[in-house]
Amino acid sequence: MGHSTRAKILGISQDGGVPHPGCYCKTCETYARTNMQLSPTSLGIIDGEQLHLIDVSRDLDRQLRKIAAKEVTDIWLTHGHLGHIDGIGLFGKEVMNSKGINLHASQSMIDLIQNSPKWKNLIDDGTFIPCEFKSNEPIQISDTLRITPIQVPHRDELTDTHAFKIEGAKKTMLHLPDHDSWDETLEMVSMKTVHEWFISLNVDIVLLDGTFWSKNELGRQNDVPHPPVLDSLKRLGNKKSQKVEIYFIHFNHTNPLLNPKSDETKRINDSGWKISKEGEVFLL
Ligand SMILES: [Zn+2]
Ligand SMILES: [Zn+2]
Ligand SMILES: [Zn+2]
Repeated sequence: MGHSTRAKILGISQDGGVPHPGCYCKTCETYARTNMQLSPTSLGIIDGEQLHLIDVSRDLDRQLRKIAAKEVTDIWLTHGHLGHIDGIGLFGKEVMNSKGINLHASQSMIDLIQNSPKWKNLIDDGTFIPCEFKSNEPIQISDTLRITPIQVPHRDELTDTHAFKIEGAKKTMLHLPDHDSWDETLEMVSMKTVHEWFISLNVDIVLLDGTFWSKNELGRQNDVPHPPVLDSLKRLGNKKSQKVEIYFIHFNHTNPLLNPKSDETKRINDSGWKISKEGEVFLL
């Protein structure tokens, strides 16, 4: 059997999940009533015998079950916001009692873990081996997998934030669940347009921050900035001859893209870009 690196989408919602705690909106009520659920964004990357998990949410059990019986060998953390990290304690001795998992994170993320007594234990008892990464420094994992962290601006209260460029033998993916605005991100990566950035990264697949559809979706949206999908669409235009496939992820419960019958969903489908689905697999 040939070696095939693949990435599997384990969650597509914003940090709170859907249904969202304390929310009784139509979407959350529909999800609750019909026993449907969406987990916070997380990605599994299977490379031979290795299983890399990008971000770890409280729905770890539900998410790992989407990948047949493999042990997590490596964890990669994008940043310290709740839904991206609140599941790491599940690897500790109260639950899984794992040992020797490589924990790839930036210096500020490792500092946050070291300075949080409950999480520090996970390093002291050997559950995790901290592996510090630096922005724009590629890490060659195997012949068929290379991961490059790319720093992006995102309300860096406790930690900085990184996207990941994930290169397999055949395809390259960019995983970008959270950033504040296109203007700030493009400035940070010194690019003029979104397409120019994607071309420079030579990416085939982008999993892109689609938290909010529009800028007035949430009363306190200014406190939790993300580029609205409408802004991304304006910058991207419709899909034409570009090789890149863009899948939106990280949906807030308020996002009309969670309703398959909404006009907004139709608009994405018409654009040629896509709405990601839990369980979807990409060969890399
Ligand atoms: Zn998030
Ligand atoms: Zn809701
Ligand atoms: Zn965040």
